[in-house]
Amino acid sequence: MALSTSIKTPNLTYEQPLGLFINGEFVKGVEGKTFETINPTDEKPIVSVHEGTEKDVDIAVKAARAAFEGSWYEKTPGERGRYLVKLADLFERDIEILAAIEALDNGKSITMAKGDVTNAAGCLRYYGGWADKIHGQTIDTNNQTLSYTRHEPIGVCGQIIPWNFPILMWSWKIGPAIAAGNTVILKSAEQTPLSALYAAQLTKEAGFPAGVINIISGFGRTAGAAISSHMDIDKVAFTGSTLIGRTILQAAAKSNLKKVTLELGGKSPNIVFDDADIDNAISWANFGIFYNHGQCCCAGSRLLVQEGIYDKFVARFRERAAKNQLGNPFDEGTFQGPQVSQLQFDRIMEYINHGKNEGATIAYGGERHGDKGYFIQPTLFTDVTSDMKIAREEIFGPVITVQKFKDEAEAIKIGNATEYGLAAGVHTKNVNTAIRVSNALKAGTVWINNYNLINYQAPFGGFKASGIGRELGSYALENYTQVKTVHYRLGDALFG
Ligand code: NAD
Repeated sequence: MALSTSIKTPNLTYEQPLGLFINGEFVKGVEGKTFETINPTDEKPIVSVHEGTEKDVDIAVKAARAAFEGSWYEKTPGERGRYLVKLADLFERDIEILAAIEALDNGKSITMAKGDVTNAAGCLRYYGGWADKIHGQTIDTNNQTLSYTRHEPIGVCGQIIPWNFPILMWSWKIGPAIAAGNTVILKSAEQTPLSALYAAQLTKEAGFPAGVINIISGFGRTAGAAISSHMDIDKVAFTGSTLIGRTILQAAAKSNLKKVTLELGGKSPNIVFDDADIDNAISWANFGIFYNHGQCCCAGSRLLVQEGIYDKFVARFRERAAKNQLGNPFDEGTFQGPQVSQLQFDRIMEYINHGKNEGATIAYGGERHGDKGYFIQPTLFTDVTSDMKIAREEIFGPVITVQKFKDEAEAIKIGNATEYGLAAGVHTKNVNTAIRVSNALKAGTVWINNYNLINYQAPFGGFKASGIGRELGSYALENYTQVKTVHYRLGDALFG
């Protein structure tokens, strides 16, 4: 099979790389395997890509190690930053192509996809700016010693990303790792391999030395497992399900105790008080769950509404959900496209059926949309209790449960009654309520009078079973550096 092919999307034609990107070149997998990626809008194959397995990961690790100790080690921090800034410029130059790839391969609307690419470029540029601002401290110990710390790169980093934000996750992972001086082997999700490969080609154009960034298309059980258990990978960063997060942690523990950061699932509460600006709260609740078709780790999937406005809120929320435009991701007006795969579609429909069988009421949606593509209607469950499966487990689709609460204490209690702790929302005009409740919620991010807004300057990550470590902001650099302490003894007085 060829190493690239021309792909025609509804709005443009471009050349798609198909090979694994190892040591600066697109190559075929050692085992000669390929796999298809499916267009979730029409359920037809888009193209096949070359598949990486354990042997390819091993070759990529050798290339990344050589670069880490050679060409990349020799670059100054300022030079590292300039490569990232150049890459950001190329993302912006090719925004139409990258967005079209995301719409085609993932099914997200072209408008949202352009937002992802803009944010990905911003993230790369932001970390480009950090590259020459990473430094340690000098520490006063005593008059005979100069003690200082250096924040050094960890080494060769494995990065495993999911399919819900393919190009954005690519940038969240690559940006801080590269700024801090590491080299990378990134495995894209098997459902959405295309944008990662296109971006790999841009790294070549940006002039990154061979081996600094390596991209593997492949499956979790093979290529992913090879990364997390590899003896010469110093760190693994993962975004995806909590189940696989645990597997990766175990693999790291059983191999070389590589450093691990995890960004996992959530079942985030979005809490609306009686005194909230109701129009805004409805808009944010709608965006909080239905943005990206509910395929967000931080989705506000549990809506908690205070009893005074509950009936009015639910009625208005139904009307709002009915206005979300479902359809072809390439139509500018589309808000919600298809779910990413048949498997995800089936999982979500199973949850919806489970909710009905558990006795919850479907206040809106609950069915497949159309007869082609993995589309699911925005779905609103009422008459929900906290013990129901639909209120406890991450559905990762356009499904929201609504529960009524009496007072602040009950809102906090229901909000925190989950193994997860990724995010939460609070809607109120009362500043005291907003701050008190946001302090009491056990979540890595709390949005007050908004939801799902993420900036690459501010950290993102989970409490409890939602993860380990923080992505974005200066905090992410801590995941990609290790601290060395140096004690320099001054003078030449004889010791002892
Ligand atoms: P997943 O966790 O299985 O996959 C995410 C990534 O991990 C992919 O790149 C996959 O190839 C890789 N992977 C899978 N098994 C692996 C293994 N044993 N070792 C190393 N890497 C492995 O997620 P999924 O099956 O695509 O989706 C299942 C559920 O996960 C979803 O329904 C959703 O609840 C959750 N999810 C969460 C996020 C998030 O952003 N937190 C993203 C995607 C999926």
